[in-house]
Amino acid sequence: HVKRSGRAGFYKYQPEVHLDQSQRWNVEHELREALGTDQLSLEFQPLASAQDGQLRGFEALCRWQHPVYGEISPDVFIPVAEATGLIKELGAWVLREACRQAARWEWPVQVAVNVSPCQLEDHNFPDMVFDALREANLPPHRLELEVTESALIGQSDTTTEALSVLRAKGIGFALDDFGAGWSSLSTLRKFKFDRLKIDKSFIWQIESDPRSVAIVRAVLGLAKSLGVPVTAEGIEDQAQLLALRNMGCTEVQGFHLGRPNSVASLPAQEPWQAINETNEKPS
Ligand code: C2E
Ligand code: MG
Ligand code: MG
Ligand code: MG
Repeated sequence: HVKRSGRAGFYKYQPEVHLDQSQRWNVEHELREALGTDQLSLEFQPLASAQDGQLRGFEALCRWQHPVYGEISPDVFIPVAEATGLIKELGAWVLREACRQAARWEWPVQVAVNVSPCQLEDHNFPDMVFDALREANLPPHRLELEVTESALIGQSDTTTEALSVLRAKGIGFALDDFGAGWSSLSTLRKFKFDRLKIDKSFIWQIESDPRSVAIVRAVLGLAKSLGVPVTAEGIEDQAQLLALRNMGCTEVQGFHLGRPNSVASLPAQEPWQAINETNEKPS
């Protein structure tokens, strides 16, 4: 998906974005300007029970609308924010804003916030999280932090400590993009998670690739033994939903159920109605 084309060229969406030095400087400069303005906003994507579609929570996703370049993908600006240290300020804003909005939702479900590895390395991180919760008057159990395995591989004592301090207060942790990283199993041994999120790439191949099916089955079995619920992310059609549901996946997320939206809204009910109708009339 190319979102726009134009002069600077850095805002094109690519799954893996590699920027050269001058492009990175551009994004850094523009992002510094954007912080604290209304160029940044959050969207919320629903997570639903795989069995009946009931709302389970929302994931907060950061959006950047540049006045000249238009929408810039997080796949572009998050890595730059991480590399330049701007993630500290950006991440703090995301947390505060996500908690503030979640406290006003009509459903008391969890808000999931993505956290970059370097944020966990910051000694002040737990206090920043507690401040955000207190300010919003949001109970800790309504917050879940999504981390990727890269955050925990070669982690320092600071990260380990942050995790245990935050968990002790009731904040949840999800292991994001599970399977896409490197040493998944040792991560699962070392840390206790409240949720695993299977990477989109496995879901997208579930109909065409028997290996993806085998891997998803194995992950679901592993999670079951560990007593951890699994969210399948990136569900784009009914066949994927049906497959995941039949394999015993706990929760689902994806465009088929609800796109990220500026306001938190209920997941679509139609996909589950269709499943129930199929079950009633076996062919
Ligand atoms: P993620 O945490 O794995 O988030 C899921 C991404 O998949 C989001 O992309 C979401 O819009 C997209 N997605 C969800 N369902 C579907 C689907 O059915 N089909 C397709 N094609 N895509 C789907 P987005 O919003 O572009 O974010 C990309 C990544 O940027 C996120 O991946 C996350 O790693 C990072 N990110 C976004 N916001 C933040 C933030 O506030 N802080 C940090 N540290 N990272 C963020
Ligand atoms: Mg995530
Ligand atoms: Mg993910
Ligand atoms: Mg990701």
